[in-house]
Amino acid sequence: MIIKRVILLLKAAWARLPLGRRWHVERVSDEPEVVKRRTVYLVGESELWVAVFQCPCGCEKNIWLNLLKEHRPRWSVTVNQNGRPTVSPSINRQVGCRSHFLLMNGRIKWCSR
Ligand SMILES: [Zn+2]
Repeated sequence: MIIKRVILLLKAAWARLPLGRRWHVERVSDEPEVVKRRTVYLVGESELWVAVFQCPCGCEKNIWLNLLKEHRPRWSVTVNQNGRPTVSPSINRQVGCRSHFLLMNGRIKWCSR
């Protein structure tokens, strides 16, 4: 369907605008059933083990990042005093949209290939 494709393209273009609203964090004990846009879910109880969020490119795929020290690759998520997350290192999807980006202080910074 052409209309569906156009909508997806528009969504992707909108998602890439630097004016987009900032990301925030939600702490949850179990993996969320619904992943809202621009939300990083930090999953775990005493220890956080995964961060889940929707890919910012507009492809609507969810991304899981391991937070456990004993497994590789591993990411860390810090939250500033305004509640805005920073994820390091960068996220470089190897499948699907192959997006490569940083999430810094609640904003997406796209990495060029
Ligand atoms: Zn994507």
